[in-house]
Amino acid sequence: MSASATRVGILGGGQLGQMLGLAAMPLGIECVFYDPAPDAPARIAGRHLAAAWDDSAALARFAESVDVVTFEFENVPAESLAFLAGIRPVHPGVRSLELTCDRIREKEFLRATGVPVQPFAPIGTRAELDLALAAVGPHGVLKTRSLGYDGKGQRVVRAASELEPAWNALGRTACIYEAFVPFDREVSIVATRALDGSAVVYPVVDNLHTQGILARSVAPAAIPPTIARDAENYARRVLDALGHVGTLALEMFVADGILIANEIAPRVHNSGHWTIHGARTSQFENHMRAVAGLPLGDAGMPEFAAMVNLVGGVPETAEILAIPGASAHLYGKAPRPGRKVGHIGIVAPSRETLLARLADAEHLARRVNRLA
Ligand code: AMP
Repeated sequence: MSASATRVGILGGGQLGQMLGLAAMPLGIECVFYDPAPDAPARIAGRHLAAAWDDSAALARFAESVDVVTFEFENVPAESLAFLAGIRPVHPGVRSLELTCDRIREKEFLRATGVPVQPFAPIGTRAELDLALAAVGPHGVLKTRSLGYDGKGQRVVRAASELEPAWNALGRTACIYEAFVPFDREVSIVATRALDGSAVVYPVVDNLHTQGILARSVAPAAIPPTIARDAENYARRVLDALGHVGTLALEMFVADGILIANEIAPRVHNSGHWTIHGARTSQFENHMRAVAGLPLGDAGMPEFAAMVNLVGGVPETAEILAIPGASAHLYGKAPRPGRKVGHIGIVAPSRETLLARLADAEHLARRVNRLA
């Protein structure tokens, strides 16, 4: 058996990095976080190297201090990742990052992989705007091709006359214009692939967003088994086609009984936080196992589970723990409107009990949450 990695470098030191670091400790893995912010939340869970994303001397020092490099933040410059890949193995690879940081290439990849997507077209020039309108129709969503997250950098378009003003509002930058999907629900699926190509897939979850930010996830999603099987198939296809090593999330809409993929997050994902308390092995632990070259753990769930995000404020820990089946996850971040500062995990032996506990947790979250 070849030796597994014991020192893992993580690009990005947000709460995802923090949860990766906490999952790494019992595996005997030490983490080094690379993040320009001096107060990066992950600094409590390993060593922290604060330097700019394009500081090649710092990047080289970082890579040389670890066995393998991974990321929790997908907007790492592609050149920095390629530079690191010349020094140490990088998992997931450059391909996973490149294909998912450009919404056009991502949708083309999904379509080519046999995962259904809504009609879409690029808009980079005034002429393309008319072509896109003809191809997609007047009801759509205009999004910047890159660097968007939590609903930022996008505009809903309801009539042909609204498209150009929407493009102006986004600074006439390179965009994707996609058909609006009148979805019944938003779901996602989180999965992890190991170095040897084996994979584990978590149950599909139902997600609810408020102002573009994930508000809550419920696992498993209340969807027919055929749709859940399709979702699992799509997740496996995406993992294999990317040659992904590590965890990823595939976000999808359910519309008219079929799945339509919206986007891939090539990393651990907010809609998988429930796995910390609700699955036999969390998405974070499985990610660390995958990149370190360890066997993956069971992605099954013993009970029903849910997660409620705390955005812009946190309640007293005791208030969270007063809810039966609830666990507190506070990231130690200074609360600011619109900033994810923690989450509440909930488990229950039945869906009915879960939904009652979830209502209590959401009530608590609504009291403290400050959206942007
Ligand atoms: P995204 O940044 O692509 O994850 O989009 C953020 C949220 O906007 C999604 O979770 C949906 O609620 C909504 N949304 C994005 N794209 C579409 C679409 N094509 N049709 C309908 N709703 C969308």
